[in-house]
Amino acid sequence: MLLQAPKIQFVDLDSQRKRIAESLEKAVVQVIRQGQYIMGPEVFELEKALSAYCGAKYTISCSSGTDALWMVLMALEVGPGDAVIVPTFTFAATAEVVSLVGATPIFVDVLPDTFNIDPKGVEIALTVAKKQGLKVKGIIPVDLFGQPADYDEIEAIAKREGIWVMSDAAQSFGAKYKNDYMGTRGIATATSFYPAKPLGCYGDGGAIFTDNEELAQRIVSIRVHGQGTHKYDNVKIGINGRMDTIQAAVLLQKLTIFKDELAARNRVAAYYNEALEGVAGVVPPGVKDGLTSTWAQYTMIIQAGRNRDDVANELKKLGVPTVVYYPRALHQQPAYAHYPVADINRTGKGALSCSEQLAASVLSLPMHAYLSEETLEYIVGAVEEVL
Ligand SMILES: *Cc1c(COP(=O)(O)O)cnc(C)c1O
Repeated sequence: MLLQAPKIQFVDLDSQRKRIAESLEKAVVQVIRQGQYIMGPEVFELEKALSAYCGAKYTISCSSGTDALWMVLMALEVGPGDAVIVPTFTFAATAEVVSLVGATPIFVDVLPDTFNIDPKGVEIALTVAKKQGLKVKGIIPVDLFGQPADYDEIEAIAKREGIWVMSDAAQSFGAKYKNDYMGTRGIATATSFYPAKPLGCYGDGGAIFTDNEELAQRIVSIRVHGQGTHKYDNVKIGINGRMDTIQAAVLLQKLTIFKDELAARNRVAAYYNEALEGVAGVVPPGVKDGLTSTWAQYTMIIQAGRNRDDVANELKKLGVPTVVYYPRALHQQPAYAHYPVADINRTGKGALSCSEQLAASVLSLPMHAYLSEETLEYIVGAVEEVL
């Protein structure tokens, strides 16, 4: 029998705000009074704190996760005739930035257990690129839902091919691949501080991490219209990619509780996993040995026989909000349908079939650091009842 339905939020930013309200509001007011709204001291303080957190030599804060990815591609001088290998089961920004610099994204399938790019698919994408006369410049693995991709395998392929790896860690800042925090693998890492990400600000924000000094300097220039040594020198084409000082101040406060929140998210995921293990029709998500996840989303698979959207509707009636990340793979989206795909034919049914199946069957449950045991019990009870 189900308990009384509590008011359940998919992401609870208000409990977090209340927890640090005093210091948070003080920090924001301080920025407003001090008046350095653009590139104020908090921006540089945040960059230092983020470097200290993940171990990256250089942190370049910026205007969003999308701009972080985009500026790295600009700095790496990716352009027309070039191709970049990306997973098809991801948020649009991963491929969008490749198009924005005039290059061609090549879509690769993901693995059914981690939802992350399939290294075997990367090999196929390399062959597809050769056939089409495209020069592959790099690979952008995505750490989907907070779990790092297979960096050892992907970096080995990249090394062999003489191409780079840029990590789309928009959902995984704070996660670890073996001994490495995200931010330290590949030539550069891009992350996002969109409010609903595990570490979010109160607007748009992002950051780029790299150990490469020359690349860092290029990105710093691109972030302010390709500026040279003087403010009104333009030595290359850039954008306005700065982070607002107010957002940096917010993030500095949120960083003080971030480790604790990640631990809480992991407890929530462990609760879900244990409770859903035996529920027929549900495949709970797993994290590979030696890796940690930020649990940006808790995404389960609704197995064949049950319509995912029906399950979502029934859960909604019971007061349990869910979201579908993502209802279509990118190669199924009108804007991206004309780009090449790496045909793996894992099931013999067609290209990128794992991603297409996931898009039709995934469902994400409420996930945040402030879910009580009582609420979790209710959510799991509702899932059991619906299935
Ligand atoms: C959120 C997200 C982005 C984009 O970040 P924004 O800050 O919203 O621009 C890019 N890639 C992935 C995988 C994301 O989840």
